[in-house]
Amino acid sequence: MAKSVDDLDSSAGSGTPDTADLVAREEQVFGENPLDVRESDHYTHEYVGSFVEKWDELIDWKKRYESEGSFFIDQLKARGVRSVLDVATGTGFHSVRLLEEGFDAVSADGSPQMLAKAFSNGLTYGGHILRVVHADWRWLNRDVHGEYDAIVCLGNSFTHLFSERDRRKALAEFYAMLKHDGVLIIDQRNYDSILDSGFSSKHTYYYAGEDVSAEPDYIDEGLARFKYTFPDKSEFFLNMYPLRKNYVRRLMREVGFQRIDTYGDFQETYHDAEPDFFIHVAEKK
Ligand code: SAM
Repeated sequence: MAKSVDDLDSSAGSGTPDTADLVAREEQVFGENPLDVRESDHYTHEYVGSFVEKWDELIDWKKRYESEGSFFIDQLKARGVRSVLDVATGTGFHSVRLLEEGFDAVSADGSPQMLAKAFSNGLTYGGHILRVVHADWRWLNRDVHGEYDAIVCLGNSFTHLFSERDRRKALAEFYAMLKHDGVLIIDQRNYDSILDSGFSSKHTYYYAGEDVSAEPDYIDEGLARFKYTFPDKSEFFLNMYPLRKNYVRRLMREVGFQRIDTYGDFQETYHDAEPDFFIHVAEKK
């Protein structure tokens, strides 16, 4: 059963810092050398309250709605999906979209601040009561119960895992929570193009806020550190692992997914260097 937002404290798992401490903390913490921060646990220190409050400026719900269109909804409906677990709820954009479309959605995330914001966004946008669960992907089955027709992990979230072991663990947890014919949808930035030929995002799809810049601050094969600058000049950073497209496809296959289709900026055909984002649609059957 999904827990309510009131249960956030009690569901914090091993490796997750104390919830009250996190909610109170407003500053991002990267320590003396931010380029050394390459840990899967660090995301909870990056999505601090002040950044979460600004996240919706960054992603601009209305523009995102327009640019995504019905891509994810169509993918799910085409497979007869009813129940969906949104494992990277963030501020709730996709969870709200799924509820609007009549799906039976549960909203999980490892960041209590994100879940609190998602819950309030659900009420604001359409009066939806989100069923939120505080859960880290690596221990998903411990905190979320039941089986789902689909799992979505969107908004370049999988990139927060820094070790292959963590990626395999998370994918295995997703696989286990899907019904025998379930589907997993994961999207990611086109890091191949950033690593191989530099950054050239047209800011068209996800990070569509007009006065917000999202750009790489540092890139190597093991770290993509992005800087987000807001109109009030505030700056935030995210340290992420630059996933190569074919590497993610291989991991999904090795975990057991039978068929993986990868779209580029929502299109079936594309030249590898062009899309800003790749979307992997992986079927279990
Ligand atoms: N899907 C949302 C969107 O598109 O706006 C949020 C995207 S945000 C880039 C990434 C989200 O993944 C954050 O809310 C973060 O807390 C969550 N996250 C990162 N690593 C996680 C993990 N190991 N377990 C659970 N959630 C995680």
